[in-house]
Amino acid sequence: MLKLARLYLPLLLLSLPWAVAPLLSLLEPAMRQLVGTLPLPLFGLALAFAAGFKRGRVALCAIHLGFAALLLQQIARAGLDQPDAYVLYTLLGLTVCVVQVWTLVQRDTSLFCRRGLSKLALTLAPYATLACFWSQPGELAPLLVRLHPLLLEQVQPQLLLSRGVAWLGLPILGLSLLLTLTRRTPDEVALFGALLCVLLAMALLSQPPLPALLLSVAPLLLTLSVIQHIYAMAFVDTLTGVPARRALEHRLAGLGRQYAIAMLDIDHFKQFNDTYGHDVGDQVLRMVATQLRQVGAGGSLFRYGGEEFTIVFNGRREEEVVAALDAVRQRVEHYPMQVRAPQRPRNDKAGRQARQGARGQKQVQVTISIGVAWRESDERPDMVIKRADKALYRAKGAGRNRVMTDGPDPRRQRRAA
Ligand code: GH3
Ligand code: MG
Ligand code: MG
Repeated sequence: MLKLARLYLPLLLLSLPWAVAPLLSLLEPAMRQLVGTLPLPLFGLALAFAAGFKRGRVALCAIHLGFAALLLQQIARAGLDQPDAYVLYTLLGLTVCVVQVWTLVQRDTSLFCRRGLSKLALTLAPYATLACFWSQPGELAPLLVRLHPLLLEQVQPQLLLSRGVAWLGLPILGLSLLLTLTRRTPDEVALFGALLCVLLAMALLSQPPLPALLLSVAPLLLTLSVIQHIYAMAFVDTLTGVPARRALEHRLAGLGRQYAIAMLDIDHFKQFNDTYGHDVGDQVLRMVATQLRQVGAGGSLFRYGGEEFTIVFNGRREEEVVAALDAVRQRVEHYPMQVRAPQRPRNDKAGRQARQGARGQKQVQVTISIGVAWRESDERPDMVIKRADKALYRAKGAGRNRVMTDGPDPRRQRRAA
């Protein structure tokens, strides 16, 4: 639940335009004008970030919405009562929606490759066509009489968007929102938020400074999603989704005086890789991480490296820590792990028979060994890790699939003394 709330947190930026707009009226006119020039550099920044970190869809979105913002500024300057501007405004609304759907279904590829460049050309083509017509006064106006009545009726007197564009935009926003729920990535949330900003800016075009502020929030959302991606690259393990070694280092640096560190290692993991292949090995790692996440006693889980994990407990009693560790050890032991059978049938017929029988799946048992140590006075975290590692070795030596402690909790020793 907390994770979901964190995912949608950047959307709070959408309220910024309404919070800032009253303050802008207090500024000098020159400063207010400056706000109107913000969207384009901000879209440029979002594009540079997204392209630099190979976020292909975010980059495409920054480019196409950036062009939309540029044309929207021109329309606002000309005024919607001008037929050329109205036709451009309507066609722009339709273009933004269609190109956004196209962006949503793209895969994340770098823009700096043949495929990326062709995507870029396809994204820019409709905007270049609109800009071309707009640059020749009187070219668009004749289309006004050909527009469908739905494209001429406003949604509401205060909202300039035509019913046609609104009816196209709403299901696309719905689809985008659905993708945020199913894929749960910051990219998806940013793509949804950015489209919402641009459609709102179009609808509120007659209410400055809201359009300029909304068009500034859109690239901010896109940039933020790239920053979130960079953060995840640094601190989250890609394979298992749990905090990575770097996150552990930060956690260790901020620990208090009383803590315990547990080192966990999957038993005979090399055998899984050798027997079933690296993919199944990865699958086992993910399963173990999922079970370890459920650790109690306030333990925080990290992937230490390879098939080793670390759990840090802050200020908890020894019995609590050992019980929590033993509970996760048992969870892993009892997990019904299904893997692909090691010997793959040589031909299709044998394969079909095997699938009909055992369905090509086999249940395997995964176990983990755990060593845990409590901090003693004046000890640094790396020293505690070393002692936890020693306890882990003893757990391995004693037959694996067990929790071993390196001496009792010093607090208990002190209490006993
Ligand atoms: P023990 O019970 O003594 O811990 O034996 P083990 O086989 O688990 O230990 P060992 O250190 O010999 O093997 C660890 C293996 O983990 C070797 C390496 O190929 C594998 N490994 C490390 N990281 C990954 C990974 O990200 N994915 C996969 N599939 N394998 C990994
Ligand atoms: Mg190991
Ligand atoms: Mg191991």
